[in-house]
This record gives sequence, C-alpha cells and structure tokens, in this order.
Amino acid sequence: MANYTVFLYRRAKLYGFSTGVFMGFNYQIAKYILGAANLKQLPDDEGVEVAFAGRSNAGKSSALNRLTNRKSLARTSKTPGRTQLINLFDIEDGNRLVDLPGYGYARVAKAVKEHWQKTLGLYLQSRNCLKGLVVLMDIRHPCKEMDLSMINWALEADLQVLVLLSKSDKMKQGARMDAKRKVMKILMDSMKQPENLSISTFSALKGDGVTNLRDFLDGLYEEKVPDPIEGTGD
Ligand code: GDP
Repeated sequence: MANYTVFLYRRAKLYGFSTGVFMGFNYQIAKYILGAANLKQLPDDEGVEVAFAGRSNAGKSSALNRLTNRKSLARTSKTPGRTQLINLFDIEDGNRLVDLPGYGYARVAKAVKEHWQKTLGLYLQSRNCLKGLVVLMDIRHPCKEMDLSMINWALEADLQVLVLLSKSDKMKQGARMDAKRKVMKILMDSMKQPENLSISTFSALKGDGVTNLRDFLDGLYEEKVPDPIEGTGD
C-alpha cells in the first residue's frame, strides 16, 4: 500500500479508490521549473507542454492558481514592463504547464512588445512538445487583435486550443451565453482551421469551467502517458 501511494504521488495521476479508473492529473503538485527569458533557455523539446496565454489582466494567473489550488503559483500582481519570462511548471515527469508572458500592456515600449510577439509566435510554431494552448480572454473584452493572432498561430501549428472566457461571474447567465455565442461566431468566421478549437466560460472565482480546463489538459497529457495500473488484472 505504501508503494502504491508513493507511486500515485510520483505519477501525479488520480485514480478512483475502489474503481481504479483514471480520474485526471493532480495539478496541485505543479512545481516551478524555471523562467526562460528567451526560447534558447527552455528545457529540451520533449514531453508535453500546454501553454497559457492572454492579455495582461485577462485572468491567466488566477486561472493557473485555481487549477493548481495555490494562492500564488503564478503571481497575480505583475509590474508592466519588467523582464518578461516564460515560466514553466512540472506536473509530472515530462508534462509541463507553461505560463506565457501577458501581452497588450499599453505602456510597454513598441520594440519590447514586438520582440515578445515574435518570441511568442516562434514558441507556438516551433516547439514540438507543445500540444495545446489555453487562451484567456476577459468575457467582457474578447477577441482583441493579439488574441486572434495567438489562436491563429496555434491552430496553424496543429495545436489544440481552448479559449476560456474569463471572469464569467461578472455576467448573468443569459449575457454569458450570448457572449460565448458571439465569440464562437467570430472565431469560426476568422480561423482557417477551427476544428481543434473549443470554448468555455470560466471563473477562477466561482469555479465555472474549471472541469473543462482539467479535461482539456488531462486529454493532452494522458495521450503520452501509459496507464500505470493497466494490466494489474483488476
Ligand atoms: P493576468 O494578468 O492575466 O494574470 O490576470 P490576473 O489573474 O492577475 O487577474 C487580473 C484581475 O482580474 C485581478 O484583479 C483578479 O482578481 C481579477 N480576476 C481574475 N479572475 C477573475 C474571476 O474569475 N472573477 C473575477 N470577478 N475577477 C477575476
């Protein structure tokens, strides 16, 4: 039993106690690996990465904190213009969450902005182990130019994309559904390859959409990880 527990912890995968059915990854064990100031500093291009992107203030840090059940895994208060980093977190050997720098700070110098846009585009299009992108957009201010560019780059690179319409608690149910429909239409009309795109409302505060986020991540990570309790005869 002791070995079994250690094994579960190390693998970071959760199984039903009596059923042995895979219940998803344990994102609470996310461990900070490093902050890369450029693509050369990233770990070897292997395993599975899923990246989180969004305009600054869209709720990306809050989403990561909610997912991992940590108060400050990704710092929620950031200083515009400071050195931007691609922050990586280990979920289990070779599976990583990637917190990309928020874009759209009005006060950042044009040259810095352009450098980071180029870096983000390159990361999305050249990183082989990157399998998915989660894009946070404030449900009240969605589909800005850079959001659409990020989604488009990712789809062109054959990534799975999950759009989270964040802070959904700021709207009533009807308005929330309307906003989601509008965003779906914009994305379906503007993206060349919308098949790999899904959309969910999301609230870090109330928990709306957290299951959709978990399912999306589990699906991408699980594909690469053999089931450790397969073949035990249960
Ligand atoms: P980031 O810049 O994208 O990492 O955004 P943050 O996670 O730092 O959030 C920006 C602001 O939006 C903060 O004041 C958060 O408290 C707030 N916020 C984030 N998520 C939610 C949410 O689900 N509901 C509400 N009401 N506010 C949120």
